[in-house]
Amino acid sequence: MNLYREISSALLDWYDRCARDLPWRGIHDSYRTWISEIMLQQTRVETVIPYYKRFLARFPSLSDLAAGDEADVLKLWEGLGYYSRARNLLKGARQVAEEYGGKLPMDPTLLAKISGIGPYTAGAIASIAYDIPVPAVDGNVLRVYSRLFGIRENIRQPAVRSKLDELAVSLVPEDRPGDYNQAVMDLGATVCVPGTPDCERCPLSAFCSAFEQGDAADLPLIPGKAAPKVIRWTVAVIWDGKRTLVRQRTESLLQGLWCFPMLECSPEEAPAMLTHKLRLSTEPFGNPVHARHVFTHLIWEMDVLPLKSVNGMKAPAGYRWVSKDELEKLAFPAAMNVALRTAKELLRQEEP
Ligand code: SF4
Repeated sequence: MNLYREISSALLDWYDRCARDLPWRGIHDSYRTWISEIMLQQTRVETVIPYYKRFLARFPSLSDLAAGDEADVLKLWEGLGYYSRARNLLKGARQVAEEYGGKLPMDPTLLAKISGIGPYTAGAIASIAYDIPVPAVDGNVLRVYSRLFGIRENIRQPAVRSKLDELAVSLVPEDRPGDYNQAVMDLGATVCVPGTPDCERCPLSAFCSAFEQGDAADLPLIPGKAAPKVIRWTVAVIWDGKRTLVRQRTESLLQGLWCFPMLECSPEEAPAMLTHKLRLSTEPFGNPVHARHVFTHLIWEMDVLPLKSVNGMKAPAGYRWVSKDELEKLAFPAAMNVALRTAKELLRQEEP
């Protein structure tokens, strides 16, 4: 047996004994694989499971999703983050309904042309749902392979990345390619983790360069990650006695999700800023509460400030006054959790 086959069979033996029991496993259904893979991007398995179940209960088939509307999809995605995934999924489902009669194609090159499907997801769908021997390479897989094969160069360099991609192609077995890809994903998520991996439990330690050299914690080499930019906001939760003021975002970050008015100023300056920018008269109605949300390249440091509107006001352009019941139906990003809690507390009160 050559080295690659020894590695893949050791990994598949381990997978047969230790695979995680997950609701999207053990099925050959390209739609379900697609949903699970999109939800799993940048998100922990435990977080994804209830979202996956709810999503499939509401949209059991690709044609159900293609006929769905964006507000419903975003509401089901609420709290999962990276909302462009949800919008692209819907766009992709409509594309598949139109161009492929509602069934995802088998060819990874065609899959990668569908909205929201990149090379990793195309490889995952083709191998898991259709048994096509192609790799699915994401950050976890790059970490495992750079340690296993002792790649001690910057994995962001195109030549180094190509070397890793070639290794990934060579390693996928003809037999059980989907299980093999899921085995690498499981190994990266549970054993060959970032930082210090659990090499004692690893089925590949006998083959592993980093284990032999003792430098697994230093790999993969990814120099010079830029520090995330910090933006400070006052999030104004304005209450008029019955309703609160919200706005649907049009910016590319969190597009389509609902937020409370956000001002780049201190809480003390917020009432004046609201008067100046939105023609709203307000007064503070409690102390600000701090909240923080970390995006990939951005951090929002927020002071959530409860305010009472001073007189009955028309909503400014782009904003909407909503009751407690209306608020429940809108999709808010996790970044607004503290503000949303504050708004619900205010809306529970009666007009003084
Ligand atoms: Fe990762 Fe350690 Fe296994 Fe090597 S032996 S693949 S470093 S867990």
